[in-house]
Amino acid sequence: MKSVSNLWQTVTDQVKSSVTEQTYATWFEPITPVSVDESSLVIQVPSQFYYEWIDSHYRQLILSGIKNAIDRDLQIKYRIELGGNESNEKKIKPDEKPLLFIPPNYNKKAQLNNRYTFDFFVEGENNQLAKAATMSVAESPGQTSFNPLLIYGGVGLGKTHLLQAIGNYVIQKNQITNIYYTTSERFTLDFISSIQNNKTAEFSAKCRNVDVLLVDDIQFLQKKEQTQEQFFHTFNELYQQGKQVVLTSDRHPSELYGLKDRLISRFQSGLMVDIQPPNLETRIAILQKKAEEDGLDISYDILEFIATNVRNNIREMEGALIKLLAHSSLSHTDVTMELARQALQETLGKSLQSGITINDIIKSVSSYLNVSENRLIGKGRKKEIALARQIAMYLSREMVGSSLENIGLHFGGRDHTTVIHACRTVEKKIEEKQEFARQVHTIRNRMIN
Ligand code: ADP
Ligand code: MG
Repeated sequence: MKSVSNLWQTVTDQVKSSVTEQTYATWFEPITPVSVDESSLVIQVPSQFYYEWIDSHYRQLILSGIKNAIDRDLQIKYRIELGGNESNEKKIKPDEKPLLFIPPNYNKKAQLNNRYTFDFFVEGENNQLAKAATMSVAESPGQTSFNPLLIYGGVGLGKTHLLQAIGNYVIQKNQITNIYYTTSERFTLDFISSIQNNKTAEFSAKCRNVDVLLVDDIQFLQKKEQTQEQFFHTFNELYQQGKQVVLTSDRHPSELYGLKDRLISRFQSGLMVDIQPPNLETRIAILQKKAEEDGLDISYDILEFIATNVRNNIREMEGALIKLLAHSSLSHTDVTMELARQALQETLGKSLQSGITINDIIKSVSSYLNVSENRLIGKGRKKEIALARQIAMYLSREMVGSSLENIGLHFGGRDHTTVIHACRTVEKKIEEKQEFARQVHTIRNRMIN
């Protein structure tokens, strides 16, 4: 019989490949395995709430993990920490039908997360090209001129998701296709250990004997000359055999320093597509999709609020959503705007100013930009007035987290598309014009202090 920590390790390894990192960190890291015997596995969870959440959302996943690990069923018993020494065990019967069915070896060999599929990927202007390119490659690996395909863009924007979606798609469509997903860090470590163990020949053979090679985060190859060399040869060999190579990078290859020119020009010989930060609508759509996937019932206003405040990193946005749920469950309260504000503050580590109202913002913008309050909320379209109004709308989104509709109401009954347009215009100007950014910043700061 496996030791309890061994068993739990195996189970959680499987869990990891079926849930997001955030979910894992929130719900699984706090669990301590306690004991295992012929009939049951006892795990300790921090609270009643955890027990309820894990049991209703992840029991099947844990059960199928156990089944895969030891080839038979066990019961799960939860031990709940009740403020110190007391404990309380609940018995749960194993169920026949797992919620998340993981076919044996599905994706396990290729090390792919089976949530990273095209179906779960929300398309927006920011990623359209990248999605289209990855889909054509997934449809006909090695057969398009997109070889290598390189996806580049900032952190948390979906590069790994798309890269793995190719793998998942190819596996699903054609079981025998040989996929190798790795990060460039992993590639480097494996290469180094093959040198240490005199197994470079095996390592080369392993890399070159695949149909699709997916290498994530190639920026880590910077300055690692010998690994680059190895990579270059692997790449050439695969390319010549008409095998597909797909890479991701956190920046454009011309900005990768310490990378050999011939490697860079290799990367450039295929197709490079970027992923930009998603706009507000796409961010909302992504959150809606996540909520739907997880069967969460969260009002549109709140999703919109989160999406408005987390802009440049989807992983962080998901983190805020999960934190919100954790808060709500731990405090046994409904998911409210106030709770959302709290969760966001924690996630972003900065304060969303509570207590400030749209009216405060109108006053403040009015006095700073010298536009009367009436004009600010009125119908006038003079350029300076319109811009001041847009700034006020933007700040209402930013600082109050009010819904688009509500903001529209405060500004003379405008509709939400006008508010979205205002927020966009201001966001764009902030990016483009330093002086403007400074002004908006000052208005905001004057309210906070
Ligand atoms: P990167 O590799 O670019 O740092 P990831 O691919 O790890 O980013 O994405 C971070 C998180 O955001 C993942 O959970 C991913 O599923 C999610 N995500 C990113 N873009 C999208 C999208 N367009 N639709 C749905 N989820 C997305
Ligand atoms: Mg990534």
